[in-house]
Amino acid sequence: MEKNSVITKDELIKEIREAGIQEGDILNLMVSLKSIGWVQGGAGTVIEAFLDVIGPNGTIVTDSFVPVKSLRYLKKHTCLSDDRTPSYAGALANAILQFPQVKRSKHPIQKFATIGKHATEFTENHTAESYAYDVLKKMCSLRAKKVRIYSPSDGVSIGTTHVAIGLLGFQQKRLKYGVHYQVGDNPKKLFLVNWAGGCSAGFNKLLPDYEKNGAVLYKGKVGQANIIVSDMKKTLEWEVAQGKKNPQFFFCDNPACVDCRLTWKFSKGNLLKVMWENIKLKKFDQAIHALIVYFRGIYQPD
Ligand SMILES: [Zn+2]
Repeated sequence: MEKNSVITKDELIKEIREAGIQEGDILNLMVSLKSIGWVQGGAGTVIEAFLDVIGPNGTIVTDSFVPVKSLRYLKKHTCLSDDRTPSYAGALANAILQFPQVKRSKHPIQKFATIGKHATEFTENHTAESYAYDVLKKMCSLRAKKVRIYSPSDGVSIGTTHVAIGLLGFQQKRLKYGVHYQVGDNPKKLFLVNWAGGCSAGFNKLLPDYEKNGAVLYKGKVGQANIIVSDMKKTLEWEVAQGKKNPQFFFCDNPACVDCRLTWKFSKGNLLKVMWENIKLKKFDQAIHALIVYFRGIYQPD
């Protein structure tokens, strides 16, 4: 990076406006801060820039997921997941929690953090009883936009695939992982992951399909990063239609991928073949992982 290439809030605002973000927009922000370059003031400045553009009638939502533990660990320890538990979802996810007006989901694990007009509506009813990605589902029906800011050297998923997988009822073999949580003064409860995950390589390969179906609203740059803005309702509609025709539409093509080949109810992979593909690549840990997954299930918190 050039020594004087500091990106200011004003420059960010200009580039966010160029990306078609407007006053009143509802945004799902997924931002790799370091891919932008050196932002004056860091992650907080990025959030402020978006808030300035969308104004008081807009809403921003970020992932604010918390780590999970194995059932064996949870039986011995009583550590609690609550509003103050740090997220593992990156710099922006933790910077937004420093804003006094932020609201965070009541869901014990798949928390979302949000600021703006719809903040209370999105988070108050997102509880242990809700589907993990219920907030994103609500956003789809409100014509929200997903904003991905990412490194040009990385692949990117712009979809709403987790929402689609939930709506389609797709099941995955999972190990028992979770947290303890508490509502009000009630006794602590155990909560285990009850949703499916997915393979990022598989999600990333869907980008050309979203583009073909008119779900991509803008592609450009923010600082040194790429930005893609997409229409969440359109990506979801395409995914649900696709999933009804072919449940494997979000699978990657890698014959060694344990997730796609072995973990779903409709996975068609053969255990010995997946193990052999990994052994050929000298990925012995993945070969053993395949064996564990086949007989017990996968650990994958997202
Ligand atoms: Zn895969």
